[in-house]
Amino acid sequence: RSQEHIRNFCIIAHIDHGKSTLADRLLESTGTVDNRGKKTQMLDDLALEQQRGITIKARAVAMRYKRDGVEYELNLIDTPGHVDFQYEVSRSLACCEGALLLVDAFQGVEAQTVANAFAAMEHDLTIVPVINKIDLTHARPDEVAEEMMNSLGTDPDECKRVSAKTGEGVATLLDAIVDSVPAPTGDPDAVLQAMVFDSNYDDFRGAITYIRVMQGTVRKGQKIKFLRAGSTHDVVELGQFAPSRVPCDELVAGQVGYLICNIKSLGDVHIGDTISIAGNDPAPALPGYDRPKRMVYCGLFPSDGQDFSELRDALERLAVNDPSFEFEPETSDALGFGFRCGFLGLLHMEIVQQRLEQESDIDLVQTAPNVTYEITDKRGETKNIHKPQDVPDPGDIEKFCQPIVRCNVIVPEEYIGPVMKLCQERRGIQKGHEVLGASRAMLTYDIPLAEVIYDLHDRIKSCTRGYGTLDYEMVGYEEADLCRLDILVNGNRVDALSVVCHRADADRRGRAVAKKLKSEIERHMFEVAVQAAIGSRVIARETVPAMRKNVTAKCYGGDITRKRKLLQKQKEGKKRMKAVGNVEISQKAFMAVLTDG
Ligand code: GDP
Ligand code: MG
Repeated sequence: RSQEHIRNFCIIAHIDHGKSTLADRLLESTGTVDNRGKKTQMLDDLALEQQRGITIKARAVAMRYKRDGVEYELNLIDTPGHVDFQYEVSRSLACCEGALLLVDAFQGVEAQTVANAFAAMEHDLTIVPVINKIDLTHARPDEVAEEMMNSLGTDPDECKRVSAKTGEGVATLLDAIVDSVPAPTGDPDAVLQAMVFDSNYDDFRGAITYIRVMQGTVRKGQKIKFLRAGSTHDVVELGQFAPSRVPCDELVAGQVGYLICNIKSLGDVHIGDTISIAGNDPAPALPGYDRPKRMVYCGLFPSDGQDFSELRDALERLAVNDPSFEFEPETSDALGFGFRCGFLGLLHMEIVQQRLEQESDIDLVQTAPNVTYEITDKRGETKNIHKPQDVPDPGDIEKFCQPIVRCNVIVPEEYIGPVMKLCQERRGIQKGHEVLGASRAMLTYDIPLAEVIYDLHDRIKSCTRGYGTLDYEMVGYEEADLCRLDILVNGNRVDALSVVCHRADADRRGRAVAKKLKSEIERHMFEVAVQAAIGSRVIARETVPAMRKNVTAKCYGGDITRKRKLLQKQKEGKKRMKAVGNVEISQKAFMAVLTDG
């Protein structure tokens, strides 16, 4: 098949606008899957993904489409829709010449649509605007076409109108893909140069590497080299997904497919890496390679100290499947042995946590998430800090910087006020305000990531009755007036409770945590002081008065078995106590404080 008959494209859309449904319909219309054998939503096969309704990993499917006696190879590359996976999105886009920009005919343009459409334009992809769900009775395709013109610059006359549900318009869309998406270029006889845009793990075959061949040809049995990783491998199998694996003998410039090379860990396959020949004079590495950036960190501890090694095994298993997840052992006075884990974002953190609980049945204690800080000390040395307790004392800090993200929020006009107020409270700086038409607007703010990760998305949803959508991208690090807020119990700092916050918020947060902790600590034989402090300066203090709680006193009469039971219960309760100095604090108390941020 010659290159001029290949089309590589992706679908970009906001969550729930119908990307998976449209993908299914395209697979069906091209006969890649037949209607009877159809599973729901072929492209997302991770069970969890179906539950959450988002595409976590990019996939690629090759379809054969015949028109006027000519067979075309249409490669649909499925991109993740969520900001946490932005880097993977950008690698997937680099494999395509075109993108279907899919917008729900009722919901209209949303924040992620805009972010992903701009990313596709930056990669010079040909955009095919598509309005989906025209079968809905409340569909407003004309207004949505206008919104798309205002926010994305697409021509309303070029918008394809489809229903992924009924199949209406899908045939026309296939023609549009063939007619408007350019064929790939690249010389099949040049030195091999292919990009790794995704990978996943198969228990039997090891790593499955997804590639787009840019130049040259890759053949079965060939020795290849991963240029960034520096490793060489034999190609054991290669082929395309249609939608299950179909092996072939070679993939040529312009094609998309997979490689299997006996690689035992996904950690050895880097998204964005370049594959070339193993010998002398390999092709140059493709641009754009970047390591996954962990933006959010938290501590994960087994809720019963004994499960530590089980948790470690579970994390190791998980990391084999998800190289962007990172973990290292951490010891906390309060919570014992656990791990400090790095994630691409909050959603990624949630997904990992859910998978851990589902796949390994471990009860987890999670500390409040925090971002990575850049701190320069008095000697001029700059460090990345992943946990609040590692922030140096105030006197040792020269410059304290935090990550800033640019947020796009799309809201119906009547909610602009509340959203602006919310963004300002989160120390946002307004960067833009655009009217999209049909009484909707896009607000742009630069906001510290730390203010976003906690609950900004939920807050925006609730103050817009669910109509507001948020997307963000990293802008960079900026200096801010931040401090480490410590909690001390009878003079001992409790590591798991340290947080980094803006100095102006420190008093309020310190008082709230001290109060909460006071109400959770049981009385001891002596007085217990709970303090919040910045460096050596105490900003809040609460006292738990002395008194030995006499449990048996509650029992009336002389029922000895009941007394024994109570004493036994108290003993068991003790096991889950953590000692801070000579003060015992139940794990539940720590949790109460942690979950309230
Ligand atoms: P994704 O998150 O973009 O992959 O969206 P899905 O394909 O999972 O679709 C989200 C929801 O919209 C599902 O309940 C689909 O059944 C529904 N849906 C998708 N396309 C259409 C359509 O053309 N018409 C109607 N009425 N519903 C659709
Ligand atoms: Mg989907």
